[in-house]
Amino acid sequence: MTDAKSDLIGLSQSEIYESLIANGLIEAKDKFRTKQIWHWLYNKGETDFEKMSSISKELRSALSQFYQIKRPKIQTHEKSIDGTQKWLFKLNDGNLIETVFIPEDNRGTLCVSSQVGCTLNCTFCYTGTQKLVRNLTTEEIVSQLLVAKDELSDWSTKHVRKISNIVFMGMGEPLYNYKNVKLAAEIMGDKEGIQLSTKRITLSTSGIVPEIMKWGEEVDSRLAISLHATNDELRNEIVPINKKFPLKELIKSCREYPRAKNAKRITFEYVMLKGVNDGVADARKLVKLISGIPAKINLIPFNPWPNSPYECSDKEQIKKFSDIIKNAGYASPVRKTRGQDIMAACGQLKSSSIKVRKSELRNHG
Ligand code: SAH
Ligand code: SF4
Repeated sequence: MTDAKSDLIGLSQSEIYESLIANGLIEAKDKFRTKQIWHWLYNKGETDFEKMSSISKELRSALSQFYQIKRPKIQTHEKSIDGTQKWLFKLNDGNLIETVFIPEDNRGTLCVSSQVGCTLNCTFCYTGTQKLVRNLTTEEIVSQLLVAKDELSDWSTKHVRKISNIVFMGMGEPLYNYKNVKLAAEIMGDKEGIQLSTKRITLSTSGIVPEIMKWGEEVDSRLAISLHATNDELRNEIVPINKKFPLKELIKSCREYPRAKNAKRITFEYVMLKGVNDGVADARKLVKLISGIPAKINLIPFNPWPNSPYECSDKEQIKKFSDIIKNAGYASPVRKTRGQDIMAACGQLKSSSIKVRKSELRNHG
């Protein structure tokens, strides 16, 4: 037996199985034991081995000697007047990440982070201004959902789920943390565990072309592309990763994306920046650019943050822009701004031990 207990959350079912065998807790023929444990972890949300009543007393106590089921610490929890909730989690190394819950009439969406900060400095995004960056572990990604389910009392299978959708649209570029995000998405969509529909898990990327193709081949989820500009000159400036993966390559990868068919349309996200990318000519160019790709275009009103260099486009301009897209036959919903009073809207997430002083948090709440 080792001194330090291993974490169960963040392992795949087969990793748990192998670990149980390696520690001499089960035999190879006892696969069903792993399934039972998995069910308690991800279907019931149990964190106490003692309460796993379908498992023998002996195994329960052995499990608690070798393993632990941890939840990250909630540093702050804020509620917006519109029902949006934001949790700031303190990770083991002291880093902070944010997770946002957005309730709507017909669904509840959890927006999860994939990194502490982000290395890509999109000029309109608050997260991109954060210096400190590291990848989250699979455990840290999955735990955002587990704590949110604890907090919202969302473990009962008798009620309609409060969290029905997951979007990887929090802090970070998920495709720069490919391996951990992939396993996290698989755990979230696992049919024997949390059982979220993979149709309701969306990965949003700023356009890491080689990983987009790989993701499409390996993972069953929806895809959202942060487009934001229709020519390389502007996109190089506002989404600088475009210099590495220019529009032509990005659009090609969307055309060839293995799941770009039928129900799994690609979502193109387009942030509305006044006088920058919101002209009628831009809308026409956008339609041309993506023609032939099964898609919808999600217009996101720009959400300001302290000293942000842009303004949001006027309502009338957004309407004009959206009408052109609709007339071309694409759905073009304008994303409702949610949780702005608690800095929980798209692109407003930023945290670091230096930034999040108590006084600053009070101002946001
Ligand atoms: N890094 C990934 C996912 C996180 S960002 C990506 O860029 O896709 C999620 C979405 O919010 C992206 O489309 C991003 O461009 C958008 N966004 C960032 N800052 C914003 C802001 N200030 N206002 C509105 N949307 C913003
Ligand atoms: Fe990173 Fe996405 Fe923000 Fe760009 S928009 S800085 S990729 S989190």
